Amino acid sequence: MEDDVCRVLISREQIARRVRELAAEIAGHYTDSHRGLTIVAILSGSVIFLADLIRHLPMKMKIGLITVSSYPGQATKSRGAQILESLRGEVRGQDVMVVDDILDTGTTLRLVLDELRARQPASLRTCVFLRKPAKAPPDLQVDFIGFDIEDVFVIGYGLDYNDHYRNYPHIGVLRAELYRD
Ligand code: 5GP
Ligand code: MG
Repeated sequence: MEDDVCRVLISREQIARRVRELAAEIAGHYTDSHRGLTIVAILSGSVIFLADLIRHLPMKMKIGLITVSSYPGQATKSRGAQILESLRGEVRGQDVMVVDDILDTGTTLRLVLDELRARQPASLRTCVFLRKPAKAPPDLQVDFIGFDIEDVFVIGYGLDYNDHYRNYPHIGVLRAELYRD
């Protein structure tokens, strides 16, 4: 696995530090939440970030999951997002924060926000571990961001290529000959 990566963009130590900071930022925004926080994670890319982040959050919360497909198989360009399995359970009147691994074109997040807005939460915020500012649409609201990165295809810390490399502990760039655009 190590041999397939040509460059480490963000090390596991940098990730750990930033996740702790991000959790403190988030906790500061929900200090007066009496409605109950529900974190809605977009599967599968966000699982590792989710697991790390929530263990630094001190408040009571529920976790909801939503499965969206955007990169079929060996693609590294978004082909339009589709909800494969939606959230179970009610979020009406609750504080909801959506968590995703990476904001690229924004198609995935927009789709999920539309779906959740229709369920009438009391508030709706967003948190992404990575953002590619070169591509992300400026009108798409993101409340909490781990890192802004350059427009390259990255893997690791939950992010996959063709369902591999999710367990790579850093954020890395794959060797170009290993993937097709
Ligand atoms: P968007 O819908 O914003 O274009 O893309 C968001 C989704 O595409 C993310 O949730 C993630 O699953 C996938 N994605 C976008 N950029 C990358 C990337 O650089 N690497 C990987 N592995 N997945 C990405
Ligand atoms: Mg994803």
